[in-house]
Amino acid sequence: MSVDAERLRFRNFIDGAVADPAGGAWLPVHEPATAAAYAEVAASGAADVDAAVDAAARAFPAWRDTPAERRAHLLSRMADAIEADAARFAAAESRDTGKPLSLAARMDIPRAVANLRFFAAAATQFASESHAMEGVGLNVTLRQPLGPVACISPWNLPLYLLTWKVAPALAAGCTVVAKPSEVTPATATLLAEVARAIGLPAGVFNLVHGGGDAAGAPLVAHPGVKAVSFTGSTRVGTAIAAVAAPQLKKVSLELGGKNPFVVFADADFEAALDTALRAAFTNQGQVCLCGSRILVQRPLYARFRDAFVARARTLAPGDPMQPETAFGALASQAHFDKVLAAIDTARAEGGTVLCGGARADVPGRCAGGWFVAPTVIEGLGPGCRTNTEEIFGPVVTLQPFDDEAHALALANAVAYGLAASVFTRDLGTAHRMAARLEAGVVWINCWLLRDLRTPFGGMKQSGSGREGGWEAMRFFTEPRNVCIAY
Ligand code: NAD
Repeated sequence: MSVDAERLRFRNFIDGAVADPAGGAWLPVHEPATAAAYAEVAASGAADVDAAVDAAARAFPAWRDTPAERRAHLLSRMADAIEADAARFAAAESRDTGKPLSLAARMDIPRAVANLRFFAAAATQFASESHAMEGVGLNVTLRQPLGPVACISPWNLPLYLLTWKVAPALAAGCTVVAKPSEVTPATATLLAEVARAIGLPAGVFNLVHGGGDAAGAPLVAHPGVKAVSFTGSTRVGTAIAAVAAPQLKKVSLELGGKNPFVVFADADFEAALDTALRAAFTNQGQVCLCGSRILVQRPLYARFRDAFVARARTLAPGDPMQPETAFGALASQAHFDKVLAAIDTARAEGGTVLCGGARADVPGRCAGGWFVAPTVIEGLGPGCRTNTEEIFGPVVTLQPFDDEAHALALANAVAYGLAASVFTRDLGTAHRMAARLEAGVVWINCWLLRDLRTPFGGMKQSGSGREGGWEAMRFFTEPRNVCIAY
């Protein structure tokens, strides 16, 4: 429906119907593995945003008053429908993003299904609190949905991060206007197809495609939007906060990262090596939680570096659509150029490129694709741009450290504070590091192990607010206290 077979077009979904952009303009959508434009996406503007917010506002009272069991049922049906069509979703995600098909099939799509199932269950478990004042009265905290909300998501994990917002919003009783990244619109469009197919009432979930300035900005500024849940760059996140603040609009901001991966000399060597490799290069380093600064205790440093570089060299970029490919392309020409420029900066700063450091050639249909070889750099101090600015690609640095205090100083020497990993067998070291690392998520002897009940989010320039579990349900609701005197 929303994807036109003759001329592949990703359209808006407003008030239960597929809609072309009011201005009639379209943006090209590229396949990163080939650099060719393979589709077009609606280049929406303020008129489309107005229509979507109006539809969400009209749908809100009935959705708010829909029993939680019914909302849960519809979310579960969305999950079931995606699961039943998982192969098509994975193929669309891989083509759109350049990520390996195997990764989309193993991670993105199942995790999107899990998000919808988790918040379907949460809808039925979310409860109001009461506080008795002995002999005086009773307080009841009613948590009521905010109204229409905006969910704005980036290109790296398009379906996973969109459902991570949309599912709790719908579960809590809000209606949604979603604005996915214009770079990767495919799976959001399929999600809209699912919403219609399973009978989600019109206006409960709306999708407005388009650029950040043309479609995202008017959505954030719209007075009918009661909250903005945003995942993306720190630059855009702070701009959104500035627009939302004068309206006293709630915002949840999940932003950039420059995450340390700390390996102590007593760590399980093979486990640390395997996990560091995954943390560095999953999705070509385009996961906000990727460990891009690897800190290794000095006695282990040379051995770890040599083994890490040897393993990184075996990660051959390939056609993402081939089932055996484990390392794909970067998401866009602009991002590809940015990552190569960051490698040039590392060289200019005096870094030694131990492997990679250039465009990777993938022959055949992918000859023109945006591939960068896994890149490992050493010899740079903590204050340089390479070690402080987010690159968000397959580029990691190695730095040696002496002791816990030194590891902490290096780990915390950035403006970001999203995630950190620590590998050690010493329980005391693990606890002391976890307590003092400036990161919203700390993994001990693991990476990317996620329990959806836990609060998720970053410190410092990595964001404000927390997602996940009750935090997400609370974000999309307003607590109102009712005090009843005895
Ligand atoms: P981005 O900030 O450029 O764009 C994110 C979304 O915001 C897109 O949909 C974009 O169209 C929209 N947008 C852009 N300008 C806007 C504006 N003025 N108003 C409203 N919306 C606007 O980010 P990106 O390049 O798509 O994604 C990469 C970034 O996302 C990285 O910095 C990465 O660390 C971050 N990220 C963070 C997390 C997390 O959980 N903290 C997860 C994934 C990605």
